[in-house]
Amino acid sequence: MTIIATDLDGTIYKGHTLIDGVKKGLLKIINEGIEIYYTTNNSSQSPNEIKDKLENLLQLDIDISKVITPLVIFQNLYSDKKLNIYIYGSDNLKKYIKNLNMNVTSLENAEVILIGRKEENNNSEINKIIKNVSSGKNIMCLNKDLTFPTEFGEKAGNGAVVKIIEDELSIIIPTLGKSGNHYSSYFIQNKITVNFVIGDRVDTDIIFGKNLNAKTFLVSSGIKNYLDVNIADIQLNKFSDVVSFLTKQS
Ligand SMILES: [Mg+2]
Repeated sequence: MTIIATDLDGTIYKGHTLIDGVKKGLLKIINEGIEIYYTTNNSSQSPNEIKDKLENLLQLDIDISKVITPLVIFQNLYSDKKLNIYIYGSDNLKKYIKNLNMNVTSLENAEVILIGRKEENNNSEINKIIKNVSSGKNIMCLNKDLTFPTEFGEKAGNGAVVKIIEDELSIIIPTLGKSGNHYSSYFIQNKITVNFVIGDRVDTDIIFGKNLNAKTFLVSSGIKNYLDVNIADIQLNKFSDVVSFLTKQS
């Protein structure tokens, strides 16, 4: 069976709008019997919210087990532990982590710090985190995206805060996002052999595809890349351009 992993933001939709041709393309792929994983670094919405968004936009039923976000990776890693965790992020994120039976606590009492995304970054909070990490506290992040695309252009992402901390302390913070080992390990552990990866970012989607030894397609419908676009196996304008490659080979 052929399995593809497609990115969402900048590949399937931008903000609340489907990218041209996506629905038709997806239907053709599904009709070929190709299995689709919906992969995203977005962690400001729960996997269920992302499933609902996809179902509303596409008017298709989406299997929740096919929606893989950094929160799914987090849950998979720590499902058997009750972590004392400090969260830099939105109230929604804190609520979600609490519902996984984690103890969301203060910086002082935390055994691990998780960096997510906030609407407005808080410099004094970031400085306190830097102090705690420099004195030995564990830290990880949901993703390292410096920006993310919206209908109104690119906005600052999780990675902006991660980079401040990494640069200040000269460390590399482990990520639960697509570019990290935890994300690709999820597919390997669950024996999901991804043949093709489609996305708009070299630093996340294409790296993820390379980690899985999949064939990688880079679309130019999303963000502007700062890494070499030639790292991708094939460059396309948009998601629907991938259909002819997939239906030919299967
Ligand atoms: Mg994207």
